[in-house]
Amino acid sequence: MFNYQQPSVNQILRLQEIEGELEITLKREDQIHPDISGNKWRKLKYNIQHVKQNGHQSVLTFGGAFSNHLAAVAAAGHQYGFQTHGIVRGEELETQTLNPTLQYCTHKGMALHFVSRTLYRNKKQALASVIIDDKNPYIIPEGGTNALAVNGCAEILTSTDEEFDVLAIAVGTGGTMAGLIQSTSDHQQVVGFQVVKDVEIPSRIRTFVSNDRWSLVPTYDEVGYAKTPKALIDFAHSVATQTGVILDPLYTAPMLWHLIKKRKENTWSFGNRLLMIHTGGHQSIKGINQRLAQQGSLLRWPC
Ligand SMILES: *Cc1c(COP(=O)(O)O)cnc(C)c1O
Repeated sequence: MFNYQQPSVNQILRLQEIEGELEITLKREDQIHPDISGNKWRKLKYNIQHVKQNGHQSVLTFGGAFSNHLAAVAAAGHQYGFQTHGIVRGEELETQTLNPTLQYCTHKGMALHFVSRTLYRNKKQALASVIIDDKNPYIIPEGGTNALAVNGCAEILTSTDEEFDVLAIAVGTGGTMAGLIQSTSDHQQVVGFQVVKDVEIPSRIRTFVSNDRWSLVPTYDEVGYAKTPKALIDFAHSVATQTGVILDPLYTAPMLWHLIKKRKENTWSFGNRLLMIHTGGHQSIKGINQRLAQQGSLLRWPC
């Protein structure tokens, strides 16, 4: 049933933008599954097992319009045979043409339920207002972060990754980072590049981990969340041209962009042997490019 357990490949990144001793190796988690992207596969693995073992007929979860998590859950339901329901933030979306992410979700059989932002914030209420036939759905929180997800993400690192001092990860809800932190050795620390403003991230991470070898660096102050400013798009093109690696617009591009910026400013105080996790997220690119076109921009994210 679970065919994609092989470790991902580590690829050394050679970029003009990186000066000095820093060496960045990229862990290609984006390549571990054809449909369920990177860390979302890790996060879902034990949740899917739980769904099958406990005989749930359906899975209900939450996400925004570009959500990699919604897309991953939809794909998992299609592949492993359970009905999926997505509670989507933004009632206005219901009357618009679905963006590529949401189209993909419906294509994979997910039933979408659009709710207002206020209702969305109180997810229990949102859930209650959704009429689904299944009275016993398995509920996965937004972004997919729960204890089973953290266990799955603790499988990202392998014994050969011992050679690295620092692990860099993009942080949305913090679940992936928590799994990484749990699986580090004493000489390693994890730096999380926080792409959204969410004051609960540190306490959420602390509920899952038992060591303090980690820190958070915000990226949202400068590039926003899902804002794709020109500087970031140019940067993604530069990385793609130099290395062949496509970063995603919401998570991995802001992470690497910010890291290089800190190096240039001499404010990178972490180690030099760095393993950066490419968590995937490519499915959002189509929607981001469609939005750029609608805004009249000639810029496009590389794909
Ligand atoms: C969801 C996601 C993250 C963040 O994962 P969390 O566990 O929510 O912190 C990072 N990168 C990509 C590509 C993602 O899709």
